[in-house]
Amino acid sequence: MDDFMNDAYNDLFTTTQCPSQQELLDYVQGKLSAEKQHEVELHLSDCELCSEAVEGLSAFEKKEIIPVYLRQMKWQMMKKLKNRKQKKDLIASHTQLAIICIIILFMLLAAFWAFHFVTHPAR
Ligand SMILES: [Zn+2]
Repeated sequence: MDDFMNDAYNDLFTTTQCPSQQELLDYVQGKLSAEKQHEVELHLSDCELCSEAVEGLSAFEKKEIIPVYLRQMKWQMMKKLKNRKQKKDLIASHTQLAIICIIILFMLLAAFWAFHFVTHPAR
């Protein structure tokens, strides 16, 4: 799409199209022109999706929140990874245990049959 087509496309959908994420970010940071700022504000009043996005972005913009937020995210990610690893180990050890049980059962069965044939020889 060249610029002319792009503009035509934007004009056509200007009432229904959501602003881009970059535009929303610029809005939160107050980087937009007054006109554009107003436009986004109008859109936010009747678009739940975008107003929620702006809420999230403005929370992200509060600089003192970011380190805590990132730390929390990292911590949760590590916790998830740890849980997954433990679960995997647990499944592996259960499988090993099951295999050992089956082997012991077969050995008992074999011992039983051997004992049976020794005490009751076939005629
Ligand atoms: Zn929207």
